[in-house]
Order: sequence, then C-alpha cells, then structure tokens
Amino acid sequence: MKVFKFGGASLETIERIQQVGKIIQSFPDDKLLVVISAMGKTTNELEKVAQNYFMRKREIAAQLLYNIEQQHIQTAENLLGTREHPLFVQLQQFFTEAEWTLGEKPTRNYDYYYDQLVGLGELLSTAIVSAYFNQAGIVNSWVDVRDVFRTDDNFRDANINWEITELQVNQKVMPLFNAVNIVIAQGFIGSTDQNESVTLGREGSDFSAAVFANLLNADSQTIWKDVEGLKNADPKLFADTINIPEIAYGEVIEMAYYGAQVIHPKTIKPLQNKQIPLYVKCFLDKDLPGTVIRQDADNRKLPPLIVLKKNQVLISITSRDFSFITEDRISDIYEIFHDKKIKINLTQNAAITFSCCIDNNPEKIELLIKALHEGFKISYNEGLELLTVRHYKNGLLEELTKGRKVLLEQRSDNTVQLVMKLPPQ
Ligand code: ASP
Ligand code: MG
Repeated sequence: MKVFKFGGASLETIERIQQVGKIIQSFPDDKLLVVISAMGKTTNELEKVAQNYFMRKREIAAQLLYNIEQQHIQTAENLLGTREHPLFVQLQQFFTEAEWTLGEKPTRNYDYYYDQLVGLGELLSTAIVSAYFNQAGIVNSWVDVRDVFRTDDNFRDANINWEITELQVNQKVMPLFNAVNIVIAQGFIGSTDQNESVTLGREGSDFSAAVFANLLNADSQTIWKDVEGLKNADPKLFADTINIPEIAYGEVIEMAYYGAQVIHPKTIKPLQNKQIPLYVKCFLDKDLPGTVIRQDADNRKLPPLIVLKKNQVLISITSRDFSFITEDRISDIYEIFHDKKIKINLTQNAAITFSCCIDNNPEKIELLIKALHEGFKISYNEGLELLTVRHYKNGLLEELTKGRKVLLEQRSDNTVQLVMKLPPQ
C-alpha cells in the first residue's frame, strides 16, 4: 500500500488533472490511497465566502459561492465531456448544503462556520477527480473522509481522535481495497462526534495523508508537488537553492515548524512513528529523483537549511512590580498563550522580562494584551522576520542579515535563529 497526496496546484488545469491520472496509472501493481486537496486557490475563495457570511454580507457570500460552483461544474464538464452524469447530482448536493449554511443566522463562533463552509473545496475536487478517473478507466472508490477521520471540536485546527479514526479506517476504508486498487479521499477535513465538519489547519492535506499512511501501515507516502523536491531554502525567497536528495525526519520537522512551506509540520510525526518514508516528487516530471525523508538519512552532507518566517512580532512582557519572571510566572504566561491559541516561535528570558516572537495575528494579540495587561507592561515590535538556519556557516549569516537589524539572536553549534527588522522603505 502506498499513500499519495496531490495538492491544489496539481489540479489547477484540465491537463494537470489528466497528468495526475497518468501518474496513478504508472503504479498498476500497487494499492493506492490518494489524498486530494481543493483545486487551485479554491480554499482561499471559500475563506472569502465564510468571512462575508459571518460579517452578514450574505449576498456577497452567495455570489462568491455561485462563482465557485460554476467553475467546478465547468471543470467537471470539460473532463467528462458531458453534463449527463451522476457526478452533477452529487456536486449539487454539496452546494445545497453550503447554501443552507448561508441561509442560517450565525449563532456560533466564526471558526465553526469557517469549517462548515471551507471544507467544501475538497469534497468537490475529490468527487470530480474520482468520477473522471472512473470514466477514464482508472477504477477507484471515493470516500467521504468525514465518515473516517474523527476529531475534537477545535474548529480550524481540529485534533484527530486516533483510536476511533483507526477503527473507522479498518471498517470503512480497508474493505474498499477488496474491490478496487485506488481509493480517493479528501485532505484537510474530518468531523466531530456531533457530525460537524472540521478542518485540520491550512495546508493540512499533507497531514491527512500521513494519518492514512500511519493507520494503513503504508510502505511509503508521496507528496506530489510542482517543484523538484525539497530544497535547502524557498526558491521564491532565495537565489541559488540546492536540491536535497535525502534528509532525516528530524531535520524536516524543524524546518517545517519554523515556517518552511513545503510540508505541513504535523506530517512528520505519524510517519516517523511507523518509520514510513516520505517522498516529495514532482508531478510535472515524475522521473526526477525528488527527495526522500526517512529516519537514517545521512545528514552530514546537508547544505545549510534556511527558513524565513515573515510577518513576525516580538513581544516583551515585563512585570510591573519588578517581581522576577521565573518558573511560576512563566507558567502563568504560557497558560494565557495556550488559552488564546497563540504559538510561540522563540523565547528569551531576563530577570523581569519575558520576550517572545510570534506570528502577527492582530485579533489574537489584542486579546493576549488584554489578558496580560494587569500584571505586566507589554511592548511590541511588528513587521519582523524570523530567520532559522540549521548547519549554518558564518559567511552565509552575514549575507542573510545584510541591511537588517538583528533584534534577538540565539545560537547553538548547529542552529542559529535571528529576529530581524527590515530597513525602513
Ligand atoms: N485546501 C487546503 C488549503 O489550501 C488544504 C491543503 O491544501 O492542504 O489549505
Ligand atoms: Mg490547497
């Protein structure tokens, strides 16, 4: 058994969807669980539907949803060559459900409605691809992953209930492979025990695939992307990047956690736990070598790994009464961050000040400051970058920090992290 994941870019055009079919057909001897995310930028479009709905701009929301509907119906028709197909009834049902949501007055919080609306992209893409493949002779079964992935109700970042999900994979997914070699499922979504839809966090389909790989005890997982494989830095941000043929789980989980966009950070654990290798391959040319991520990859040959996380804020939290910020107060501070669902990227301590670098999310930061205000004086600095370099070399750091002011620096023999400010434009 192999698990494949195809992202939005691989479904952006008819030709690309056909190319995905060719890739799948080149594995005739394998059982494949194929995880698919929403087509192109559909998730961003659906986010706009959710935002407008929640701001009571229901007409705009309905219009945006209608545009998404038309695009998908057109894509489906282009692929199938007809509108006379049960697929169109299935698509209609998905849209009717979404329209019902838009017809309700919002009484719950935004994250709940976001999840009821935004997961639609994956339902549409998988239904279309599955129907097209079956018509093209790539025989497959489609599953609604919401009947399989059980989660808690932490909307927009739901946590998998592994026990129940494992049971459902065994009961509902495994038997499908008795009849077909290919099963197609949505990435990114799941459902609570109340049958409410959830999402697993933006770009979460890599993780969905890893959950399947773990529970199906797959031989491998492959993420098919529009790039050659993993590089030592994001080629959109840095010149002269280097391809990485093999790399250990531990390196990738750190790079992803600190902002490398290639793989969702939650993807590594389920694979590492069962020692399942992860391949990153290019769907545009499947014969390119790509990257393999596994336990005992040789890290000695690695180039410096560079990750830049933009739009960071450095917050300094200082006790008003000059009491030390030691373990007990730090644990109070952490509890507040946890409560506001703010992830801390880097911390530094002084006698009466705790500083930390976080992603800039103005709404969350406002709530954080309110919660901390009584005991602490807060100051913060926005518009920063967090640079992480593993296996660094000194000359390189000078180059990467050129023209920037370093506000905070942490260094071990192996890794450097810098919070930097850009010069005023
Ligand atoms: N479609 C979702 C997103 O764009 C999930 C994914 O792509 O992995 O965030
Ligand atoms: Mg996507």
